[in-house]
Amino acid sequence: LVRAVNVLKSFHGNEVLKGIDLDVHRGEVVCLLGPSGSGKTTFLRCINQLEAIDGGRIWVDGDLVGYREEGGHLHHLTDKQVAAQRRDIGMVFQRFNLFPHMTALQNVMEAPVQVRGVDKKKARARALELLEQVGLGDKPDSYPAQLSGGQQQRVAIARALAMDPKLMLFDEPTSALDPELVGEVLLVMRELAKQGMTMIVVTHEMGFARDVADHVVFMDGGVVVEEGKPKDVISNPQHERTRTFLKRMR
Ligand code: ATP
Repeated sequence: LVRAVNVLKSFHGNEVLKGIDLDVHRGEVVCLLGPSGSGKTTFLRCINQLEAIDGGRIWVDGDLVGYREEGGHLHHLTDKQVAAQRRDIGMVFQRFNLFPHMTALQNVMEAPVQVRGVDKKKARARALELLEQVGLGDKPDSYPAQLSGGQQQRVAIARALAMDPKLMLFDEPTSALDPELVGEVLLVMRELAKQGMTMIVVTHEMGFARDVADHVVFMDGGVVVEEGKPKDVISNPQHERTRTFLKRMR
């Protein structure tokens, strides 16, 4: 479903991604691990076109991200075409980024109604279903400020799911949470994985990566150092840099 080939990205001459390759099959969960500053977040943002790449290519579901190819040349997509590509990708951030002036239900209904033009009644029914799915069936009318961080993050997941994404990107979804709230968010993500959602997850939660990921990718300094099955990479890392990182995580 996702293929990245030799993705390059610099910020003001600082090379953050130095040729990243990645393949994610439909229904797979891939966890991106690595120290702070290794480029994990930047790579996710490139997949979702929150950053433009400087080189390489990314395809999602067969479509080249951000460009069309014609006669061997790449042409930028129009803003409208970019928006259409981004609609099919759900993203959950470290900070929950809910609309503060809207209830949980309104947050989840907003994009389907405004962007997809879904009928309000239908969007509402679907939003209630999704809130139920993330364990918040009893909180549709709460405002973000009335919810805990874990609850807000679960609303954010429901909101992303409301657009029926092909792919879900999670950028350290639990790292801003108090430790006692991490489990409830990971549980929702585990359920989502079980249902067959394709997911790319930047995380420091090694337990989650070990249990849920089909494939883990260890990044350091803008390159993929090591990747493979979690039991190989996490339990039996081959590279010194991976070992050092994992030791620090324990
Ligand atoms: P973390 O776990 O801290 O989020 P990360 O592996 O996700 O780390 P990135 O956030 O992708 O790493 O950052 C990689 C590098 O790119 C860092 O050195 C960061 O300062 C730099 N960087 C990221 N975004 C920008 C930006 N918009 N402008 C300039 N530099 C940036």
